[in-house]
Amino acid sequence: MDQKCSKCKNMFDDSLVEDPTQKKYSSCNSCWKEWTTYAVMVINEMRLDMSLPEHRKALKKHERIFFGLEQGEQIQKNPEEQ
Ligand SMILES: [Zn+2]
Repeated sequence: MDQKCSKCKNMFDDSLVEDPTQKKYSSCNSCWKEWTTYAVMVINEMRLDMSLPEHRKALKKHERIFFGLEQGEQIQKNPEEQ
């Protein structure tokens, strides 16, 4: 079935989607890939420990911000920290 991606607003076939979380946000495969790359950056920048519930919650918030479900600032990678 055709779905509209909540991130890029393009239509995509949701039968090609494998991740249930991806379906929840109605994200196309390329935006989901973008999110997973961004998530790694968020984890690194915020030094999140995925074994801690509070840190998982923080990442979830960024997930919602990324897909436009919540207001908030996206993390920018600090170029000076290379
Ligand atoms: Zn998309």
